[in-house]
Amino acid sequence: MVLEHLTEGQKPNPQEYAQRLSAKGAEYGLVRRDGFAFIFPERGTAVINMTHVETPLDPIGASEKALEGKDQADRVVQFLKKEFPDIFSKARVRAYGLPGIRQTRWIVGRHQLTADEVRSATHFQDEVARTSWPIELHGQPEGYVWEPFGDDHVHYVPLGSLVPAYADNVVAAGRCIDGDAAALSSVRVMGPCIAMGAAAAHALDLAGSGSVHQIDLSALRRRLVDNLEG
Ligand SMILES: Cc1cc2nc3c(=O)[nH]c(=O)nc-3n(C[C@H](O)[C@H](O)[C@H](O)COP(=O)(O)OP(=O)(O)OC[C@H]3O[C@@H](n4cnc5c(N)ncnc54)[C@H](O)[C@@H]3O)c2cc1C
Repeated sequence: MVLEHLTEGQKPNPQEYAQRLSAKGAEYGLVRRDGFAFIFPERGTAVINMTHVETPLDPIGASEKALEGKDQADRVVQFLKKEFPDIFSKARVRAYGLPGIRQTRWIVGRHQLTADEVRSATHFQDEVARTSWPIELHGQPEGYVWEPFGDDHVHYVPLGSLVPAYADNVVAAGRCIDGDAAALSSVRVMGPCIAMGAAAAHALDLAGSGSVHQIDLSALRRRLVDNLEG
């Protein structure tokens, strides 16, 4: 949600939110034990992410969870007002967020990207995108897995994870490519999604009326060089 009417002052650091949520979140009926606030200095506003709802795929279930999310957001406001009054005592909700769905359905590709390949920065002959984003797996209500890598770490996404094995003219891009849950949690952030979108377009262009499984990979790499090297 977006909050407004914040008071200027010493903002809590990220660990303080997590510690206080861990110690007192249950008293406010909150499910998360971590979370964060992006405060915009001199604007009196902040983006808050301290809620968690399931994201069912049927519309009625999704609507019910959206209402539950707003209820949780209201309780987060109470929590912030009481626990961090210097900043939040006058805060009110400017806008509730819509539930964000990080990972839902994904294709069965020619290759499933694995967490081990992400951790070991595996190169692929048909690599089309790269990122250094940590594993960021939001698989449970209380919090999430955050597994950062070393400073020079970069890992790669192969074209094989974008293409179903038995379709000649389908290329997935973004969060619906084939990866195990942990691997996908790293490569589905916006930068690599954009790179995958570019790769998908070039792969289909190179395939023309032929199969996307039989394109010239070195030609594809030349087109994507800015996203893979340097
Ligand atoms: C709460 C939350 C926080 C996040 N925080 C970050 C962050 O801080 N940094 C970061 O990099 N990433 C973040 N992400 C992840 C990132 O935003 C998404 O994973 C990424 O945007 C997915 O890109 P995409 O192209 O796969 O899908 P989308 O961006 O969802 O694009 C799919 C598009 O397809 C359209 N569409 C759907 N159905 C149809 C149809 N039938 N016909 C035509 N169009 C259709 C949709 O309208 C949409 O525009 C976050 C995600 C969530 C949920």
